[in-house]
Amino acid sequence: MKTLEQIAAELQGYDPNALPAGHVNDFLARLVTPVAEVEEVPTLDLLGRVLARDVVSPISVPPHDNSAMDGYAFDGGQLQPGQALRLQPVGTALAGKAWQGSVAAGQCVKIMTGAIMPAGLDTVVPQEFTRDAGDGCIEIPAGILQRGDNRRHAGEDLMAGRPALRAGDRLGPAAVGLVASLGLPTATVRRRVKVTYFSTGDEILSLGEPPREGAVYDSNRYTVRGLLQRLGCEVLDLGVVRDEPAALEAAFRRAAAEADAIITSGGVSVGEADFTKAMMRQLGDVAFWKIAMRPGRPMAVGRIGRSVLFGLPGNPVAVMVTFLAFVRPALLRLMGCSDTAPPPLLRARSLEPLRKKPGRTEYQRGIVAPAPDGGLQVRTTGNQGSGVLSSMVQGNGLIVLHHAQGNVAVGDEVDVMVFEGVV
Ligand code: AMP
Ligand code: MG
Repeated sequence: MKTLEQIAAELQGYDPNALPAGHVNDFLARLVTPVAEVEEVPTLDLLGRVLARDVVSPISVPPHDNSAMDGYAFDGGQLQPGQALRLQPVGTALAGKAWQGSVAAGQCVKIMTGAIMPAGLDTVVPQEFTRDAGDGCIEIPAGILQRGDNRRHAGEDLMAGRPALRAGDRLGPAAVGLVASLGLPTATVRRRVKVTYFSTGDEILSLGEPPREGAVYDSNRYTVRGLLQRLGCEVLDLGVVRDEPAALEAAFRRAAAEADAIITSGGVSVGEADFTKAMMRQLGDVAFWKIAMRPGRPMAVGRIGRSVLFGLPGNPVAVMVTFLAFVRPALLRLMGCSDTAPPPLLRARSLEPLRKKPGRTEYQRGIVAPAPDGGLQVRTTGNQGSGVLSSMVQGNGLIVLHHAQGNVAVGDEVDVMVFEGVV
């Protein structure tokens, strides 16, 4: 395990007091190592889990050449350019019940979707393309079909002996279905990552407490919990921790004993007259950053015991933005995912002028929608204050205004990160 000092020395131009947002993930990737333990999990419970080993296909899918349509299977070598083809059906092949007979020239087999292609036949004409040719025969009009049409090949989805999924893949519904399609009742995955979180600040109220002047209800524990649950982490909520050394020390010690990662919110800004930073410094190897970004400038990162620490700012939008941009990729890495990239950036035309100072990355909350020209357009949700949590509810994405970028005029293209399903 590298110390923060060693990591810092590896990075060009590292300045904790003016850290470009683009450098944060490089630092965190060096700080975080994937959990090592693996477990065998039933296929039914694989959603969201991360494969520890390749899943090698024990069978080919589909196992046989089969028909992609309801129609008639025949030997496509009989098709002649510019000529119709007349065929005599001699039997029926059903899905799950193959046709065993032999088929001579001028004959065909009625076949259903998914049925095994009878021996020697390689082409299927869909039912609706055929004409009744009398005497129980069908006719295929000229020029509508090529040899091999509407036949699915054995193994075209997955080949026996080849990896169907790779170690490091995070399994979505399609991947879980794929494991099942191979007949596999289990897969080997990394254990779940356990993350504990708490809020700090004497002005923070827990639900159930009466309102008090100058105090606000804790929303960060709820958003953080949801964000973690979407990632499939195990979560442990340590509540709101009072701004006093004994309470903070107890919380950090318990968190470090129980979890792979600790997420706190509040108490990391400059000039913060509290004990949170002091306790982080005392108990762990922690760096305090000023990131060149908005929202979310202050952030603490490091290790307390064997746990990775993410000390997020207190403002509710800053919490979500720093989570999405930095914590989420780091947690994906901790989970053993090979793809830790944030959601991809898309281009959208701005419906508004946006004010932006070069020298920091800004994440404005936007509403992204299809534009009349077939592209995308985006407008902001209005007030971009870092405490305006409703902007994250109204928005469906972040307008990412990059470090060197300046003002945006109406109609300019900007990058947007749609966070549907993630945030
Ligand atoms: P801080 O980073 O501690 O200076 O907090 C910045 C702002 O975020 C202050 O207005 C806090 O009241 C607010 N804040 C801090 N923690 C929370 C929380 N858990 N839930 C909602 N707002 C918070
Ligand atoms: Mg505070």
